[in-house]
Amino acid sequence: MLTNELREKYLEFFESKGCIRRPSDVLIPKDDKTVLFTPAGMNQFKNQFLGIGKLDFTRATTCQKCLRTGDIENVGVTAYHHTFFEMLGNFSFGDYFKREAIHWAWEFLTDKKWLGLNADKLTVTVFQEDDEAFDIWNKEIKLDSSRIRRDNEYENFWPAGAPTEGPDGVCGPCSEIFYHPDKGQKEVEIWNLVFTQFNRVGDPPDNLRPLPKKNIDTGMGLERCAAVLQGVESNFEIDTLRQLCEAAADTVKVKYDFHNPEGRAIRRIADHVRAITMCIHEGAVPGSDKESYVIRQLLRRAVLEGYLLGRETPFLSTLVPKVVEIMKQPYPELTETVQSVSDIIHEEESQFLDTVERGVNRFNQIVQKSDVQSSKTISGDDAFDLHQTYGFLVELTVAMAKKNGVEVDRLAFENRVKEQKNISGSGLFANSVMSAGPLDSIRNEAGATIFKGYDSSTCEAKVV
Ligand code: ATP
Ligand code: MG
Ligand code: MG
Ligand code: MG
Repeated sequence: MLTNELREKYLEFFESKGCIRRPSDVLIPKDDKTVLFTPAGMNQFKNQFLGIGKLDFTRATTCQKCLRTGDIENVGVTAYHHTFFEMLGNFSFGDYFKREAIHWAWEFLTDKKWLGLNADKLTVTVFQEDDEAFDIWNKEIKLDSSRIRRDNEYENFWPAGAPTEGPDGVCGPCSEIFYHPDKGQKEVEIWNLVFTQFNRVGDPPDNLRPLPKKNIDTGMGLERCAAVLQGVESNFEIDTLRQLCEAAADTVKVKYDFHNPEGRAIRRIADHVRAITMCIHEGAVPGSDKESYVIRQLLRRAVLEGYLLGRETPFLSTLVPKVVEIMKQPYPELTETVQSVSDIIHEEESQFLDTVERGVNRFNQIVQKSDVQSSKTISGDDAFDLHQTYGFLVELTVAMAKKNGVEVDRLAFENRVKEQKNISGSGLFANSVMSAGPLDSIRNEAGATIFKGYDSSTCEAKVV
């Protein structure tokens, strides 16, 4: 099943259950100061969940454009994480609840009329105290208890940890659905069903008050589910994204092979160029503040991935038409901004590559210094200077150093980054974007091919 067909099927299925099909909200919210990018389908319905907004319907279904900066380190490393992705959702505002949400999810996934997935390959989790959800899965769906895992409030509650740590407000247990592929591949979480049924007031015990009107908020990853249906081993191998990976590989003149070391770099380029195209289409531009800053960093990371593969001239903008080609069915408006989005990306990457080139000159001076020649090591301070002044992610410095037969004092470099962060007070996000670069490839790989061994450090999935 093609990705576009899956999106349509999902929306059609939930329409058949009385949900009103609503368009995706914007990716860069204008009125919500709590997030830079829309991280999930429920965000456009926040007010309805809080009980302060009224719509003339109580059931909805959407396919939402999402972006999670917190997942950036996973991109290209895990098989199933993107920065930009699409989330299919169905929502109830005081209307249907747990029983229907579970039954319908199961029907959509397993019924031959819909996805027809093999039920034996699915398992679920529930919140440890949620006997109601456990019993629906076990007694009504007839899922064997060995395939229902109970987990704690950090894994199976929204917001995570709410019963003990708060925040106060609307919250509830969730139930996640996993698919177990063949061939020993890792299980993949495809759908999260959130049962917002409590108002949290103060500390435990007895701080979870049942809401008079209970809500349903669910999110299914479009690309993940497409990967499962298409029997491919990663989201990047599905019909749409595979094309983009191949186009990216062509542009930087390597052959795309999923398992080759370059594969990860190509997947990151594909992911990041899709994300920035979607953002710039909405009118944001690369810059130094908030979402603009994120866009700039995503762009730089993609450019440096290409640079390390030997592509030293602008290339990213040439991929915009391909992004639009694979995304235009659900978002036809993208076709109207291909040229302007390409121009903005071209301008930004050209400028960045000029800076990188000056950085290369500076790098060459550093390498010639007598202390570097004698110690065969570039100091943390010099690496930090390249990072700060020329936008060199440290992995670029390391790769170039290697070519010159010297090393980089990474520990000292990391300490400088930490120091600077303490001074400027930049938090987790700046950390994940700026210092732990996408080119972490090289970190633990002394002597081996440079695009292996990414540090798969995970970050919070929250956009801060
Ligand atoms: P994971 O544990 O795999 O990071 P999650 O629990 O953070 O996923 P949810 O917040 O429950 O994800 O989001 C709902 C669904 O959206 C997930 O079940 C998954 O199918 C999809 N999803 C979440 N994050 C991503 C991502 N970074 N890229 C692609 N799909 C995602
Ligand atoms: Mg999860
Ligand atoms: Mg989840
Ligand atoms: Mg996550």
